[in-house]
Amino acid sequence: MPATSWIVPLAAGILTGAAGFLAGARRRKSYGAELEETRAELTRRLNELFSIQELAYVISESTELEWVAGEVTRYVSRSLESDGIALVLQESEAARICAAEGVFEAASRTALDDESLEFIRNSTLDSDIEVMPGPVELFGVSIETAVIAPLRAHDACAGALIIARQSDHPFSPDELRFFGTVAAHASVAIVNARFVEIIRRGKEDWETTFDSLKDGVALVDTDGLIRRANRSFGLMVGAPVPDTIGQPICETLLGMRMELEEYFSAIRAGRELEPTTRQAPDDGRVYRISAARIGQGEHEGWIVAMIEDVTKQTAFESRLIQNEKMVAVGQLVSGVAHELNNPLTSIAGLTEFLMDQGTPDDPNNEHLEVIHEQAERAGQIVRNLLTFARKGPPEVTELDLNTLIQRTLQLITYETKLRDIELTADLDPDLPPVAGDRYELQQIIVNLLTNAVQAVDQNAPGDPRRVHVLSSANDDEVVVVVSDTGPGIPEANLNEVFTPFFTTKETGSGTGLGLAISYAIIESHHGSITARNRTEGPGAVFEIRLPRAPRTAPQPPPTSEPAATPPATTATPPRNARILLVDDDPAVRRMITVLFSSKAHQVDAVNDGAAAMRMLQEHEYDLIIANPRAAVSAGEMLAPAMLSRWPQFRKKTILISGDVRPENREWLEDLGCTFYLKPFKISDLRRSAGSILDSGIPAEHGR
Ligand code: ADP
Repeated sequence: MPATSWIVPLAAGILTGAAGFLAGARRRKSYGAELEETRAELTRRLNELFSIQELAYVISESTELEWVAGEVTRYVSRSLESDGIALVLQESEAARICAAEGVFEAASRTALDDESLEFIRNSTLDSDIEVMPGPVELFGVSIETAVIAPLRAHDACAGALIIARQSDHPFSPDELRFFGTVAAHASVAIVNARFVEIIRRGKEDWETTFDSLKDGVALVDTDGLIRRANRSFGLMVGAPVPDTIGQPICETLLGMRMELEEYFSAIRAGRELEPTTRQAPDDGRVYRISAARIGQGEHEGWIVAMIEDVTKQTAFESRLIQNEKMVAVGQLVSGVAHELNNPLTSIAGLTEFLMDQGTPDDPNNEHLEVIHEQAERAGQIVRNLLTFARKGPPEVTELDLNTLIQRTLQLITYETKLRDIELTADLDPDLPPVAGDRYELQQIIVNLLTNAVQAVDQNAPGDPRRVHVLSSANDDEVVVVVSDTGPGIPEANLNEVFTPFFTTKETGSGTGLGLAISYAIIESHHGSITARNRTEGPGAVFEIRLPRAPRTAPQPPPTSEPAATPPATTATPPRNARILLVDDDPAVRRMITVLFSSKAHQVDAVNDGAAAMRMLQEHEYDLIIANPRAAVSAGEMLAPAMLSRWPQFRKKTILISGDVRPENREWLEDLGCTFYLKPFKISDLRRSAGSILDSGIPAEHGR
């Protein structure tokens, strides 16, 4: 209701009262005196009317509760003679003095004590003003006369307005009437202000809740335009919230117009859908989006969209999947490698033996050399596969990636010139070193550059043919970026390129292992490798991040060769020796037997550990060549059993193992014997054997 709408009936009341008074007076007094009195009364009431009108204007200016309360008490203090005025507000179980003047001023903005609260409650039970007979103690002040007017409106009691005098001079009926009128009109303003306050607090609560959500929330209208959004949404899209209002949600979030339209349409149609995951092409961030339809009311058909940034989680999950795949492939590869070790060892050994046996002009020598060479090559392939399966720790030294990059660039410069590809590098001259395996890291740079060159080579004539390498560093990491202007990687393949055997190249030209190997190597160096597409044109970008080397560079670990490589001596044992050979593979037994028997040594070949232990007790041996895991009994292996019983054999034992697990290598190192992992080079075995036989350690048995 307009703030002044009560003035008309009030004025009518005043005028009617004045007219009645006038008629009565006419009967009692002389006409002149009566007229004078009436005029005075009328003037006084009109003054009251204008004064109350002024109050109405003032308190209609704001809906702020404290302000309205302050204005009311000030007004009463100005308009009526009193010693104290207080406006009390009731709040659920408690009450407080919201504004006060005069003797009550000290109690302003304090909570009511129980006694005053009880008193106020009793006095405001109905809507009449109540005159309290004094003396009484109110808000800690002694007063003689007090009048309490309840602040009631819209069936709600908001509190009370109190006026007090410390003298026993009572309030006149006119004063009481005026006070009641003021209280009645203040009530409406106070109760309204209170409602506004409740609504404002509720709104604030919702907004705080809305804004404190970690997820982005947006209210989207039927045209797909954002109508409201929370702070997290603004942060996600990198814009102040007000700037997002009225913008299309798909474009604001993902930079694509139609991307979520289908999903939102289905939600609008009442379908319940699982959250959908989308990637923003510009910055690569991944969002999980869910939505609910507003089913009724003014905004029926609008959608509340909840957006969770799952970029980190997705990267972590795909890393996990990638790791799982790598583990599976690693197991497969090491299984296959294990199976190939024995045949390759025998093929290489036996061809070496045949070459030794033949005369230099034997025409078959050439064939044997090819067989030997190919067996060695196959052995190298197996070793490479084992690198991929992470079957050996990297040989870590402190190294400068710029040098590796430059060396690799030199390697491919000839080819890039031939293919008319522009190869450029931007290398940070202050690049700090990294701790890593030189060969493995070079392999990655070769892989990335080869892929980039192959990609650019597919370009149509006239398209830019550029490959660029960049190195830089931040506080913790060294970063190498290889980018090209080739066709780039289709979005769907971006997560696949590191998967073993994933290739889009023709059969024969791609194995799909280059990036998978690179990934495995980078993982073992505690770094990361990522693929993305260029934003400023077609082309792929691969980024490697490796931790900077610690201040003191780690020393290279002991090499994979025998703990103490024996000095090269004659390739053939010089005297007739007795050798114990233990291996479960007949082809390996055969190869080593013929290799050493031909030199007039006696080779006792057995296939298990139990037989070996018996032989060691019964005979004296100059040399033991053994598979360390040959079974002595259930759960007991030859090497530990033999060496704990006869530690002196350590110096005359060569262990040959087909177990390529890294833990096996550590175990072998701990045993302290010379050892070889299959497929080994026969010449190495012969050299170590020669060295032991030459060393003059007397033959002995194990008694
Ligand atoms: P391969 O090169 O044998 O296919 P990789 O593991 O090195 O194996 O690469 C896997 C796949 O990743 C490639 O077949 C190709 O589809 C994609 N790829 C790698 N590098 C690039 C590049 N620079 N540009 C476009 N696609 C690439």
